[in-house]
Amino acid sequence: MKSIRVTQPGGPEVLKLGEVPKPSPGPGQVLIEVRAIGVNPVDTYIRSGNYPNATLPYTPGRDCAGIIQELGEGVHEMKVGARVYTSGTVTGAYAEFASAEAKTVHALPENISFAQGAALGIPYATAYRALFQKAKARAGEWLLVHGASGGVGTAAVQLARAAGLNVIGTTSTAEGEKLVRENGAHYVLNHSSANYSEELMRLTAGRGVDVILEMLANVNLAKDLTLLAKFGRVVVIGSRGKIEINPRDTMARDASIHGMMLFSASDEDLKSIHSALFAGLENGTLRPIVGKEMPLAEASKAHVAVLEPGAYGKIVLVPQGS
Ligand code: NAP
Repeated sequence: MKSIRVTQPGGPEVLKLGEVPKPSPGPGQVLIEVRAIGVNPVDTYIRSGNYPNATLPYTPGRDCAGIIQELGEGVHEMKVGARVYTSGTVTGAYAEFASAEAKTVHALPENISFAQGAALGIPYATAYRALFQKAKARAGEWLLVHGASGGVGTAAVQLARAAGLNVIGTTSTAEGEKLVRENGAHYVLNHSSANYSEELMRLTAGRGVDVILEMLANVNLAKDLTLLAKFGRVVVIGSRGKIEINPRDTMARDASIHGMMLFSASDEDLKSIHSALFAGLENGTLRPIVGKEMPLAEASKAHVAVLEPGAYGKIVLVPQGS
Protein backbone atom coordinates (compact mmCIF):
# COMPACT_ATOMS: atom_id res chain seq x y z
CA MET A 1 0.00 0.00 0.00
CA LYS A 2 1.01 3.64 -0.40
CA SER A 3 2.16 5.39 2.75
CA ILE A 4 4.13 8.46 3.78
CA ARG A 5 7.33 7.39 5.52
CA VAL A 6 9.73 9.40 7.67
CA THR A 7 13.22 7.89 7.92
CA GLN A 8 14.94 10.88 9.54
CA PRO A 9 13.74 13.96 11.42
CA GLY A 10 13.77 17.25 9.53
CA GLY A 11 11.77 19.69 7.41
CA PRO A 12 8.64 18.90 5.38
CA GLU A 13 10.84 17.33 2.66
CA VAL A 14 11.49 14.25 4.86
CA LEU A 15 7.87 13.17 4.24
CA LYS A 16 8.26 10.70 1.36
CA LEU A 17 5.58 8.66 -0.39
CA GLY A 18 6.55 4.98 -0.54
CA GLU A 19 5.22 1.41 -0.65
CA VAL A 20 4.95 -0.61 2.57
CA PRO A 21 3.12 -3.87 3.35
CA LYS A 22 -0.56 -3.46 4.23
CA PRO A 23 -0.85 -3.90 8.02
CA SER A 24 -2.90 -6.66 9.65
CA PRO A 25 -4.81 -5.79 12.79
CA GLY A 26 -3.42 -7.28 16.01
CA PRO A 27 -5.58 -8.44 18.92
CA GLY A 28 -7.95 -5.67 20.01
CA GLN A 29 -7.29 -3.69 16.81
CA VAL A 30 -9.16 -2.97 13.59
CA LEU A 31 -7.87 -2.35 10.07
CA ILE A 32 -9.26 0.80 8.42
CA GLU A 33 -9.34 1.59 4.71
CA VAL A 34 -8.38 5.26 4.99
CA ARG A 35 -10.46 7.77 2.98
CA ALA A 36 -9.21 11.03 4.55
CA ILE A 37 -6.41 12.08 6.91
CA GLY A 38 -6.34 15.06 9.27
CA VAL A 39 -3.14 17.12 9.24
CA ASN A 40 -2.42 18.53 12.71
CA PRO A 41 0.33 20.96 13.83
CA VAL A 42 1.58 18.23 16.21
CA ASP A 43 2.43 16.05 13.17
CA THR A 44 4.94 18.75 12.14
CA TYR A 45 6.48 18.97 15.64
CA ILE A 46 6.98 15.16 15.68
CA ARG A 47 8.38 15.19 12.11
CA SER A 48 10.95 17.85 12.97
CA GLY A 49 12.25 15.75 15.89
CA ASN A 50 11.24 18.27 18.59
CA TYR A 51 8.78 15.93 20.23
CA PRO A 52 9.13 12.59 22.00
CA ASN A 53 7.73 9.25 20.83
CA ALA A 54 8.79 9.01 17.20
CA THR A 55 10.73 5.80 16.56
CA LEU A 56 12.21 5.90 13.08
CA PRO A 57 11.15 4.94 10.47
CA TYR A 58 7.46 5.68 10.90
CA THR A 59 4.24 6.71 9.17
CA PRO A 60 2.89 9.99 10.64
CA GLY A 61 -0.61 10.89 11.76
CA ARG A 62 -3.26 10.02 14.35
CA ASP A 63 -6.46 11.32 12.74
CA CYS A 64 -8.17 9.61 9.83
CA ALA A 65 -11.61 8.53 8.70
CA GLY A 66 -12.57 5.55 6.59
CA ILE A 67 -14.20 2.14 6.53
CA ILE A 68 -13.42 -0.86 8.76
CA GLN A 69 -11.95 -3.57 6.55
CA GLU A 70 -10.93 -6.23 9.09
CA LEU A 71 -11.37 -6.96 12.79
CA GLY A 72 -8.50 -8.19 14.98
CA GLU A 73 -8.90 -10.99 17.50
CA GLY A 74 -11.26 -10.16 20.34
CA VAL A 75 -13.00 -7.21 18.66
CA HIS A 76 -16.74 -7.97 18.71
CA GLU A 77 -18.41 -4.59 19.15
CA MET A 78 -17.51 -3.27 15.65
CA LYS A 79 -18.53 -4.32 12.15
CA VAL A 80 -16.62 -4.68 8.89
CA GLY A 81 -17.92 -1.97 6.51
CA ALA A 82 -18.69 0.53 9.29
CA ARG A 83 -17.84 4.23 8.71
CA VAL A 84 -15.45 5.41 11.42
CA TYR A 85 -12.93 8.06 12.48
CA THR A 86 -9.91 7.60 14.71
CA SER A 87 -8.40 9.40 17.66
CA GLY A 88 -5.18 7.41 17.31
CA THR A 89 -3.61 4.75 15.12
CA VAL A 90 -0.99 2.06 15.68
CA THR A 91 0.58 2.10 12.21
CA GLY A 92 0.12 5.80 11.27
CA ALA A 93 -2.71 7.63 9.51
CA TYR A 94 -0.84 8.99 6.44
CA ALA A 95 -1.47 5.79 4.43
CA GLU A 96 -4.05 3.86 2.41
CA PHE A 97 -4.72 1.54 5.37
CA ALA A 98 -4.15 1.95 9.11
CA SER A 99 -4.47 -0.35 12.12
CA ALA A 100 -5.89 1.21 15.25
CA GLU A 101 -6.82 0.07 18.76
CA ALA A 102 -10.59 -0.46 18.84
CA LYS A 103 -10.95 2.02 21.73
CA THR A 104 -9.55 4.79 19.48
CA VAL A 105 -12.04 4.08 16.67
CA HIS A 106 -15.39 5.88 16.76
CA ALA A 107 -18.56 5.69 14.68
CA LEU A 108 -18.91 8.39 12.01
CA PRO A 109 -22.53 9.49 11.51
CA GLU A 110 -23.92 9.16 7.95
CA ASN A 111 -24.35 12.94 7.61
CA ILE A 112 -20.60 13.57 8.10
CA SER A 113 -18.18 13.08 5.17
CA PHE A 114 -14.88 11.23 5.53
CA ALA A 115 -12.99 14.53 5.09
CA GLN A 116 -15.02 16.02 7.93
CA GLY A 117 -14.39 12.87 9.98
CA ALA A 118 -10.65 13.41 9.62
CA ALA A 119 -11.10 16.79 11.38
CA LEU A 120 -12.45 15.25 14.58
CA GLY A 121 -9.86 13.16 16.44
CA ILE A 122 -7.48 15.84 17.71
CA PRO A 123 -9.21 19.20 16.99
CA TYR A 124 -12.74 18.51 18.23
CA ALA A 125 -11.60 16.39 21.17
CA THR A 126 -9.14 19.13 22.19
CA ALA A 127 -11.79 21.84 21.94
CA TYR A 128 -14.27 19.78 23.96
CA ARG A 129 -11.74 18.93 26.66
CA ALA A 130 -10.53 22.52 26.93
CA LEU A 131 -14.03 23.97 27.19
CA PHE A 132 -15.83 21.47 29.36
CA GLN A 133 -13.29 19.25 31.15
CA LYS A 134 -10.65 21.93 31.88
CA ALA A 135 -12.40 25.35 31.96
CA LYS A 136 -15.76 23.85 33.00
CA ALA A 137 -17.51 26.45 30.82
CA ARG A 138 -21.21 27.02 31.50
CA ALA A 139 -24.10 28.37 29.45
CA GLY A 140 -24.34 32.15 29.73
CA GLU A 141 -20.61 32.67 30.22
CA TRP A 142 -18.43 34.77 27.89
CA LEU A 143 -15.78 32.91 25.91
CA LEU A 144 -12.84 34.14 23.84
CA VAL A 145 -11.57 31.60 21.32
CA HIS A 146 -8.16 33.12 20.60
CA GLY A 147 -7.47 31.57 17.19
CA ALA A 148 -10.98 30.68 16.04
CA SER A 149 -10.32 30.04 12.33
CA GLY A 150 -8.25 26.82 12.54
CA GLY A 151 -8.96 23.19 13.35
CA VAL A 152 -9.37 23.54 17.12
CA GLY A 153 -10.86 27.05 17.01
CA THR A 154 -13.69 26.24 14.57
CA ALA A 155 -14.58 23.22 16.71
CA ALA A 156 -14.54 25.30 19.89
CA VAL A 157 -16.83 27.97 18.41
CA GLN A 158 -19.39 25.35 17.31
CA LEU A 159 -19.30 23.51 20.65
CA ALA A 160 -19.58 26.70 22.67
CA ARG A 161 -22.37 28.19 20.59
CA ALA A 162 -24.40 24.99 20.91
CA ALA A 163 -23.82 25.01 24.68
CA GLY A 164 -25.21 28.54 25.13
CA LEU A 165 -22.03 30.57 25.67
CA ASN A 166 -21.45 34.10 24.36
CA VAL A 167 -18.70 33.54 21.85
CA ILE A 168 -15.98 35.93 20.67
CA GLY A 169 -13.52 34.50 18.14
CA THR A 170 -10.28 35.93 16.75
CA THR A 171 -8.58 35.56 13.39
CA SER A 172 -6.18 37.67 11.29
CA THR A 173 -7.77 37.59 7.83
CA ALA A 174 -10.97 38.75 6.13
CA GLU A 175 -11.74 35.15 5.01
CA GLY A 176 -11.17 33.96 8.57
CA GLU A 177 -13.49 36.66 9.90
CA LYS A 178 -16.30 35.53 7.58
CA LEU A 179 -15.69 31.89 8.51
CA VAL A 180 -15.67 32.49 12.26
CA ARG A 181 -18.88 34.52 12.07
CA GLU A 182 -20.68 31.97 9.84
CA ASN A 183 -19.44 29.26 12.18
CA GLY A 184 -21.45 30.71 15.04
CA ALA A 185 -19.32 33.30 16.86
CA HIS A 186 -21.40 36.22 18.12
CA TYR A 187 -18.45 38.60 17.61
CA VAL A 188 -15.18 38.41 15.66
CA LEU A 189 -12.00 40.33 16.48
CA ASN A 190 -8.71 40.57 14.60
CA HIS A 191 -5.85 39.33 16.78
CA SER A 192 -3.31 41.27 14.71
CA SER A 193 -5.07 44.60 15.33
CA ALA A 194 -3.61 46.88 18.03
CA ASN A 195 -6.95 47.54 19.73
CA TYR A 196 -8.70 44.17 19.86
CA SER A 197 -8.52 44.06 23.67
CA GLU A 198 -10.33 47.42 23.96
CA GLU A 199 -12.97 46.04 21.57
CA LEU A 200 -13.37 42.95 23.76
CA MET A 201 -13.80 45.08 26.87
CA ARG A 202 -16.41 47.17 25.08
CA LEU A 203 -18.32 44.04 24.00
CA THR A 204 -18.39 42.74 27.57
CA ALA A 205 -19.29 46.14 29.08
CA GLY A 206 -15.90 46.32 30.82
CA ARG A 207 -16.34 42.98 32.61
CA GLY A 208 -14.03 40.77 30.52
CA VAL A 209 -14.54 37.13 29.54
CA ASP A 210 -14.98 34.10 31.78
CA VAL A 211 -12.98 31.68 29.63
CA ILE A 212 -10.19 32.05 27.07
CA LEU A 213 -9.11 29.16 24.84
CA GLU A 214 -5.60 30.19 23.82
CA MET A 215 -3.98 28.84 20.61
CA LEU A 216 -0.76 30.91 20.83
CA ALA A 217 0.02 31.53 24.50
CA ASN A 218 3.60 32.70 23.94
CA VAL A 219 2.15 35.75 22.17
CA ASN A 220 -1.06 36.37 24.11
CA LEU A 221 -0.98 34.97 27.65
CA ALA A 222 0.11 38.16 29.43
CA LYS A 223 -2.66 40.17 27.76
CA ASP A 224 -5.19 37.35 28.23
CA LEU A 225 -4.88 37.68 32.01
CA THR A 226 -5.98 41.30 31.77
CA LEU A 227 -9.05 40.35 29.67
CA LEU A 228 -10.50 37.94 32.24
CA ALA A 229 -13.52 38.59 34.42
CA LYS A 230 -13.38 37.61 38.11
CA PHE A 231 -12.84 33.83 38.49
CA GLY A 232 -11.82 33.66 34.82
CA ARG A 233 -9.96 30.71 33.34
CA VAL A 234 -7.43 30.55 30.51
CA VAL A 235 -6.77 27.19 28.89
CA VAL A 236 -3.37 27.05 27.18
CA ILE A 237 -3.92 24.84 24.14
CA GLY A 238 -1.08 26.02 21.91
CA SER A 239 2.25 27.74 22.64
CA ARG A 240 5.41 27.99 20.56
CA GLY A 241 7.81 29.77 22.90
CA LYS A 242 8.20 31.67 26.16
CA ILE A 243 6.36 34.70 27.57
CA GLU A 244 6.60 36.88 30.66
CA ILE A 245 3.36 37.33 32.63
CA ASN A 246 2.40 39.44 35.64
CA PRO A 247 1.12 36.98 38.28
CA ARG A 248 -0.76 39.83 40.00
CA ASP A 249 -3.16 39.83 37.05
CA THR A 250 -4.33 36.38 38.19
CA MET A 251 -4.55 37.41 41.88
CA ALA A 252 -6.73 40.43 41.21
CA ARG A 253 -9.27 38.23 39.45
CA ASP A 254 -8.93 34.95 41.35
CA ALA A 255 -8.10 33.62 37.89
CA SER A 256 -6.63 30.27 36.82
CA ILE A 257 -4.36 29.18 33.99
CA HIS A 258 -4.88 25.59 32.87
CA GLY A 259 -2.30 23.90 30.68
CA MET A 260 -3.62 20.98 28.69
CA MET A 261 -2.43 18.11 26.51
CA LEU A 262 -5.09 15.98 24.92
CA PHE A 263 -2.73 13.02 25.17
CA SER A 264 -3.10 13.15 28.99
CA ALA A 265 -6.86 12.52 28.86
CA SER A 266 -7.89 9.22 30.46
CA ASP A 267 -9.81 6.53 28.56
CA GLU A 268 -12.87 7.48 30.58
CA ASP A 269 -12.53 11.17 29.65
CA LEU A 270 -12.03 10.26 25.98
CA LYS A 271 -15.09 8.03 25.98
CA SER A 272 -17.15 10.91 27.33
CA ILE A 273 -15.65 13.35 24.78
CA HIS A 274 -16.33 11.14 21.75
CA SER A 275 -19.87 10.32 22.94
CA ALA A 276 -20.59 14.05 23.15
CA LEU A 277 -19.06 14.65 19.72
CA PHE A 278 -21.21 11.90 18.17
CA ALA A 279 -24.35 13.51 19.59
CA GLY A 280 -23.36 16.95 18.24
CA LEU A 281 -22.49 15.56 14.80
CA GLU A 282 -25.75 13.67 14.62
CA ASN A 283 -27.91 16.60 15.67
CA GLY A 284 -26.13 18.98 13.28
CA THR A 285 -24.64 21.42 15.79
CA LEU A 286 -21.13 20.19 14.89
CA ARG A 287 -20.14 20.62 11.24
CA PRO A 288 -16.38 20.18 10.71
CA ILE A 289 -15.01 22.68 8.21
CA VAL A 290 -12.58 21.34 5.63
CA GLY A 291 -10.67 24.23 4.11
CA LYS A 292 -8.31 22.27 1.90
CA GLU A 293 -8.12 18.70 0.53
CA MET A 294 -4.76 17.58 -0.91
CA PRO A 295 -3.50 14.25 -2.26
CA LEU A 296 -1.49 12.11 0.18
CA ALA A 297 1.58 12.57 -2.05
CA GLU A 298 1.50 16.30 -1.14
CA ALA A 299 1.90 15.71 2.59
CA SER A 300 5.00 17.92 2.68
CA LYS A 301 3.03 20.86 1.19
CA ALA A 302 0.30 20.25 3.77
CA HIS A 303 2.90 20.46 6.57
CA VAL A 304 4.01 23.87 5.29
CA ALA A 305 0.40 25.08 4.93
CA VAL A 306 -0.72 24.00 8.42
CA LEU A 307 1.83 26.32 10.06
CA GLU A 308 1.13 29.33 7.83
CA PRO A 309 -1.08 32.25 8.91
CA GLY A 310 -4.52 32.44 7.35
CA ALA A 311 -5.98 29.23 8.78
CA TYR A 312 -9.34 28.17 7.32
CA GLY A 313 -10.72 25.12 9.12
CA LYS A 314 -8.97 21.83 8.52
CA ILE A 315 -6.36 20.61 6.04
CA VAL A 316 -7.06 17.04 4.94
CA LEU A 317 -5.02 14.56 2.88
CA VAL A 318 -6.75 12.10 0.57
CA PRO A 319 -5.03 8.77 -0.26
CA GLN A 320 -6.91 8.05 -3.53
CA GLY A 321 -5.11 9.35 -6.60
CA SER A 322 -1.75 9.79 -4.82
P1 NAP B 1 -4.46 25.69 12.98
O1 NAP B 1 -5.59 25.01 12.31
O2 NAP B 1 -3.20 25.92 12.26
O3 NAP B 1 -5.01 27.11 13.54
C1 NAP B 1 -4.15 28.02 14.17
C2 NAP B 1 -5.00 29.14 14.75
O4 NAP B 1 -4.18 30.03 15.52
C3 NAP B 1 -5.67 29.98 13.67
O5 NAP B 1 -6.98 30.30 14.06
C4 NAP B 1 -4.81 31.24 13.64
O6 NAP B 1 -5.51 32.38 13.18
C5 NAP B 1 -4.51 31.36 15.12
N1 NAP B 1 -3.44 32.31 15.42
C6 NAP B 1 -2.34 32.62 14.70
N2 NAP B 1 -1.68 33.62 15.30
C7 NAP B 1 -2.38 33.96 16.41
C8 NAP B 1 -2.22 34.93 17.42
N3 NAP B 1 -1.19 35.79 17.45
N4 NAP B 1 -3.17 34.99 18.39
C9 NAP B 1 -4.23 34.16 18.41
N5 NAP B 1 -4.42 33.21 17.47
C10 NAP B 1 -3.51 33.11 16.49
O7 NAP B 1 -4.04 24.89 14.31
P2 NAP B 1 -4.99 24.03 15.31
O8 NAP B 1 -5.01 22.64 14.87
O9 NAP B 1 -6.24 24.79 15.50
O10 NAP B 1 -4.10 24.10 16.64
C11 NAP B 1 -3.93 25.35 17.30
C12 NAP B 1 -2.76 25.23 18.30
O11 NAP B 1 -3.12 24.32 19.34
C13 NAP B 1 -1.47 24.68 17.67
O12 NAP B 1 -0.37 25.32 18.27
C14 NAP B 1 -1.49 23.21 18.07
O13 NAP B 1 -0.20 22.65 18.15
C15 NAP B 1 -2.15 23.29 19.44
N6 NAP B 1 -2.86 22.07 19.84
C16 NAP B 1 -2.64 21.62 21.11
C17 NAP B 1 -3.33 20.53 21.58
C18 NAP B 1 -3.14 20.10 23.01
O14 NAP B 1 -3.47 18.96 23.36
N7 NAP B 1 -2.67 20.98 23.86
C19 NAP B 1 -4.19 19.82 20.73
C20 NAP B 1 -4.40 20.30 19.43
C21 NAP B 1 -3.73 21.45 18.99
P3 NAP B 1 -5.22 33.06 11.74
O15 NAP B 1 -4.56 32.03 10.87
O16 NAP B 1 -6.58 33.47 11.26
O17 NAP B 1 -4.33 34.21 12.03
